[in-house]
Amino acid sequence: MMADLDLAPVLPRTAATTSDDHLVLGGCDTTALAKEFGTPLYVFDEEELRGGIGEYRWAFTSRYENTLVVYASKAYLGRWIAALMAEEGLGMDVVSGGELAVAKSVNFPMGKVLFHGNNKSEQELREAVEAGVGRIVVDNFHELALLDGVAGAAGVKQRVLLRISPNVDPHTHAKTTTGILDTKFGFVLEADGSGGEGDPAEQAIVQAQASKNLELMGLHCHLGSPIFEMEPYEVANDVMIGFAAKMRDRHGFELHDYSPGGGFAAPYTRDQIPPAPDEYAEAVIGSMRIALEREGLDEPALSVEPGRSIAARAGVALYTVGARKEIPGVRTYVSVDGGMADNIRPAMYEARYEALLANRATDAAEENVTIAGKYCESGDVLIRDIDLPKLEPGDLLAVPASGAYCLSMASNYNHAPRPPIVLVREGNARLVRRRETYEDMMRNDVWQE
Ligand SMILES: *Cc1c(COP(=O)(O)O)cnc(C)c1O
Repeated sequence: MMADLDLAPVLPRTAATTSDDHLVLGGCDTTALAKEFGTPLYVFDEEELRGGIGEYRWAFTSRYENTLVVYASKAYLGRWIAALMAEEGLGMDVVSGGELAVAKSVNFPMGKVLFHGNNKSEQELREAVEAGVGRIVVDNFHELALLDGVAGAAGVKQRVLLRISPNVDPHTHAKTTTGILDTKFGFVLEADGSGGEGDPAEQAIVQAQASKNLELMGLHCHLGSPIFEMEPYEVANDVMIGFAAKMRDRHGFELHDYSPGGGFAAPYTRDQIPPAPDEYAEAVIGSMRIALEREGLDEPALSVEPGRSIAARAGVALYTVGARKEIPGVRTYVSVDGGMADNIRPAMYEARYEALLANRATDAAEENVTIAGKYCESGDVLIRDIDLPKLEPGDLLAVPASGAYCLSMASNYNHAPRPPIVLVREGNARLVRRRETYEDMMRNDVWQE
């Protein structure tokens, strides 16, 4: 099997073609997968997933041994991937009681779990404390008081980080920017990032230190996503480490743990290939060390939180082509059997994707079309204006880089059953999530005939 695929940079590393020009992933003919499991179908490539994890782990730990790579599970979470992350030795970010429950269900090492979120409920905090979550990343004053009470009631001294909003613009989409001044996340550092006296961030340090049932371990920030430049990480490290040093001087604060978050970019389109894990690691660790040295601080335990950069490229969505609408001189819509219910990113973030024909993988482009979803919204468009071979009903369309923030944001809009997932590796396909049924969707309706 020879891969001569223009889209190789956005496809899993195992992508190839059969002699009859079918797309192959993980040694499996995607047209056979579609036949067996139906479409829409999400295919995850185990080699790509583990390979990506290995690259991030090596990039960081080879430069800075005391690094924990933490998978941001909101990118995509299921029991199978939680178990795989545990096997790979990664930590895990959870942002809800539901994600925590998945981690617990596969006996994920709780000491390596970080619990994030800007409005964790009392019950979620209780679940996290009782599960023995390694670090709860406290976002605000309400949570600081609530968690102190919850930990006290459980007789636990809970280790926490404080989420700081360091006022650094990551130059990404407004809806995925989280570390600027005007965001719902985290304790504000002064607008100039100087950590001036009386900042909410400083008050949070003081309050956390005074909380009997909390042990303040360090600081966290997350700037947004996807971040293609190194500069936001460098500036954030400079600001955060500078702040840590001021807090040491004023309050005896010790930076035991430090996390600059995630947001590393993933390859979605062939003209926007992201920096390599090595480049991120070099920038993050280099700038952190410079700031630590300047401030005379010891090297903290570092955690980094890639989500999309691990999951996105490992997933490929397969759709069957159906209806076609040609509007002369305007555009041609080609509809597929999925759309915003399984991938809302184009509608929500104007996210761009590539596509190829899985049953004629190397056919040359012949026309410019817009790939529409099947759901009842005009905004349900997967890919606007893309050059593709002439699409016929029944063709199998593959959308690469669909592993992150697609299924984790999937809905049952229009009562669409959410798609199944197969995990492929070396010619074997394993169903790791079955397709939802109509009965699944009606299960929670309370109604008596
Ligand atoms: C979402 C999130 C991440 C991961 O972002 P990616 O773009 O998927 O890498 C990391 N840390 C926190 C706190 C997050 O909320």
